[in-house]
Amino acid sequence: MNAKKANLSGELKKYFGFSTFKGQQEEIIENLLSGKDIFVLMPTGGGKSLCYQLPALISEGTAIVVSPLIALMKNQVDAVNGLSSEDGVAHVLNSSLNKTQTKQVFDDIKGGKTKLLYVAPESLIKDDYLDFLKEVKISFVAIDEAHCISEWGHDFRPEYRNLKSIIDRIADVPVIALTATATPKVQDDIQKTLGMTDALVFKESFNRPNLYYEVRPKVNVDKEIVRFINHHKGKSGIIYCLSRRKVEEFAQLLQVNGINALPYHAGLDQKVRVANQDKFLMEEVDVIVATIAFGMGIDKPDVRFVIHYDFPKSLESYYQETGRAGRDGGEGYCLAFYDPKDIEKLEKFLAQKPVSEREIGLQLLNEVVGYAETSMSRRQYILCYFGENFDPVKGDGADMCDNSSDPPKLKDATADLTKT
Ligand code: ADP
Ligand code: MG
Repeated sequence: MNAKKANLSGELKKYFGFSTFKGQQEEIIENLLSGKDIFVLMPTGGGKSLCYQLPALISEGTAIVVSPLIALMKNQVDAVNGLSSEDGVAHVLNSSLNKTQTKQVFDDIKGGKTKLLYVAPESLIKDDYLDFLKEVKISFVAIDEAHCISEWGHDFRPEYRNLKSIIDRIADVPVIALTATATPKVQDDIQKTLGMTDALVFKESFNRPNLYYEVRPKVNVDKEIVRFINHHKGKSGIIYCLSRRKVEEFAQLLQVNGINALPYHAGLDQKVRVANQDKFLMEEVDVIVATIAFGMGIDKPDVRFVIHYDFPKSLESYYQETGRAGRDGGEGYCLAFYDPKDIEKLEKFLAQKPVSEREIGLQLLNEVVGYAETSMSRRQYILCYFGENFDPVKGDGADMCDNSSDPPKLKDATADLTKT
């Protein structure tokens, strides 16, 4: 790749205004610029976007960025365009563009203006786009949210599976895949599917030392949550429920109890949904009661608690959802209510699914049950699931869970360590 040989810190300052790189960003960028395939496993908020945005900005040609959600792409495109005084540095390419807009995008790419082109995988296979992209200079391909490739991930998207052959048809360029899902299974799956088993792997710790993890039996859950929120009056929090009906019911129950709460789920009218989300972001409302439809790409730094009214379907989901607490490094209380009967319901639900999906679902559930029932450090349990060692005595955040700060039943916890 023909990148300008300049010092990266200078470029970082120039484009982003930051004085230092975060974590392994600099090494990642250097290696990408030198033509290597890269695999980045970094928790949410770790700064993954910059790992492809900066090299794209200083490389010749256009970087293709594959991303699963139009909303996420639009945010990023606006952000990147805001970094530069020129128009058209970043574009989204998808079927919502009319002819004139598409031509503008193509012209900007041909004219060398466009450094980042965001596309959803289902757009990338369109012949018009493929034919065009084959003819222009591509610097590299970035695959964001790469766990979408894997059925073992928490957000599997079938369109992601064919990416390798599509990329091969476009250009022979380096590929950087990035995700915040770090289980060894997902990692392996991504690398195999993308044909990048030789990629350089950069993995950062997934430990979130400022989050406190607690599991309570699901008894009098409504009352418990109301009491919890009253103890944290005025603080921002998210409550996850499994069903839309529960979301609405519980948001109402909180309102009746004088708590400033609103519902969020995909079945709500788009306008209402956006309005509720905005009110939460603007602090007009303290608590959002939501299905898992809420949260992806939402960056509210001061969420003080995440409560799981219903237990999640996988530990990845749990980690992602609780990860929305304490982004600013301040307090983040992660409380989950566990009832084995809920797990049985989820199992029954899985029984109607195709065999492969069912088996994966059941294994993921097993891990969730293991987490709920363990008496070992919950942080250690989660990190072990992500293939990471954690010292439950001396590690960062070691006393930050119900089992560690006040051990209810001390038994040999190492026996609980599950291997993935
Ligand atoms: P991820 O995709 O890993 O969840 P993002 O790329 O959205 O994370 O970045 C998270 C935040 O970190 C953003 O607000 C971004 O501006 C900030 N950030 C990234 N790199 C740096 C850096 N080197 N210095 C300071 N802030 C950074
Ligand atoms: Mg990201």
